[in-house]
Amino acid sequence: MQTTRFVLEQQEIPTHWYNVVADMPNPPSPPLGPDGQPVSPEQMLAIFPGPLLEQEMSGERWIPIPEPVREIYRLWRPSPLIRALRLEQALGTPAKLYYKNEGVSPAGSHKPNTAVPQAFYNHQVGIRRLTTETGAGQWGSSMAFAGQMFGIDVRVFMVKVSYQQKPSRRSMMQAWGAEVFPSPSNLTQAGRDALAKHPDSEGSLGLAISEAVEEAAGRADTNYCLGSVLNHVLLHQTIIGLEAKKQFEKAGDWPDVIFGPCGGGSSFGGIALPFLADKAAGKTPNLRLVAVEPTSCPTLTKGAYAYDYGDASGYTPIMKMYTLGHDFMPPGIHAGGLRYHGDSPLISQLVHEGLMEALAVPQVATFEAGVQFAKAEGIIPAPESCHAIRAAIDEALRCKATGEPKTILFNLTGHGHFDMASYDRYFSGKLEDFDYPAEAIQESLAHLPKV
Ligand SMILES: *Cc1c(COP(=O)(O)O)cnc(C)c1O
Repeated sequence: MQTTRFVLEQQEIPTHWYNVVADMPNPPSPPLGPDGQPVSPEQMLAIFPGPLLEQEMSGERWIPIPEPVREIYRLWRPSPLIRALRLEQALGTPAKLYYKNEGVSPAGSHKPNTAVPQAFYNHQVGIRRLTTETGAGQWGSSMAFAGQMFGIDVRVFMVKVSYQQKPSRRSMMQAWGAEVFPSPSNLTQAGRDALAKHPDSEGSLGLAISEAVEEAAGRADTNYCLGSVLNHVLLHQTIIGLEAKKQFEKAGDWPDVIFGPCGGGSSFGGIALPFLADKAAGKTPNLRLVAVEPTSCPTLTKGAYAYDYGDASGYTPIMKMYTLGHDFMPPGIHAGGLRYHGDSPLISQLVHEGLMEALAVPQVATFEAGVQFAKAEGIIPAPESCHAIRAAIDEALRCKATGEPKTILFNLTGHGHFDMASYDRYFSGKLEDFDYPAEAIQESLAHLPKV
């Protein structure tokens, strides 16, 4: 019987995260404050702990993973690398398809890879409470789990429409001891202002961020956590690609192309950046690293490369990144984790400089790919992950046409067990493709901050 599952021992969990800044051809552009000057660490210390700020600005190639973090990682890591042999056979492709299964974590996605160290470093500096926001609930549940591991109270502001539509995600957060409030709430000024203007407001991610940041900034015992975009988040996620490299060595194979879904870019960076190190060093010059995004929120493929705010209300520092404009409201696609107007500054710069690529795929085709994957491999993927699966299947079909036996790796960032309502809509033919929202993007790009 052929081996299709490549596993590592717990002792083989990497001891260091990889920081791509050390190998980038050009230094990253700094985040800027309202005065147009680079943001000082002191300003950020109100809501982030010192060790995470150091990582955010570090140029060191390797950063040690604290032992207490590895001990929590070992609850589900190393995650398996799987050869999707049955999918290859179903497609009749000469290509070899592999996926890294991040759906095996307690919360069901890659997000605990960063939630755990974020909780750890906050605990280390004496923080007792954390606030965060969540849209669909993936990040909120990851933070709830991570807070519980280190005895930190977690308060989650959950976008009201999701709070009402996704009661199971809310229950998960409660099971791990977090408090969950629908946003807008009357706990913060931002929430009260929003409710005064729109008593029936269903909330938005931007508003939930404003509430979580406001509370963290106003209390000395409380900090704030973000689940994507920032450099330290990508750093923590490199555990995915570092494990994958060891697993490919065991498999006696190596990827020619890597696909990952891309919302804020953390999981894509996580799987791709450790491989980029070899590409940057000239060892694998033809390796392709491809971020896959929805055609309805095409940040990397149709956005501007410019300074913009991280949130909708313009409270955060501005960052140089691909953006559709901070007040762009993406259509209500089911891959909630990919509905972000911006992207990680590191991924943006690497795409801009041609070391990485991006492509966009339409919604219905992603569910088609997800169902095809589930039928062959058994696992029901998260709607976000379906984007990478679509791109991987398309590449495998191109290989079928040309006869090339390429090795393709994709990131299975999460399982879809809490997204079955979205699958229901797909099965009943109610799922739509949204046109590329060119006019809305043009309009919001007109509101980019002047630098
Ligand atoms: C949040 C999420 C994503 C997108 O976020 P990134 O920061 O781009 O990784 C992708 N897949 C799943 C399952 C998610 O929960």
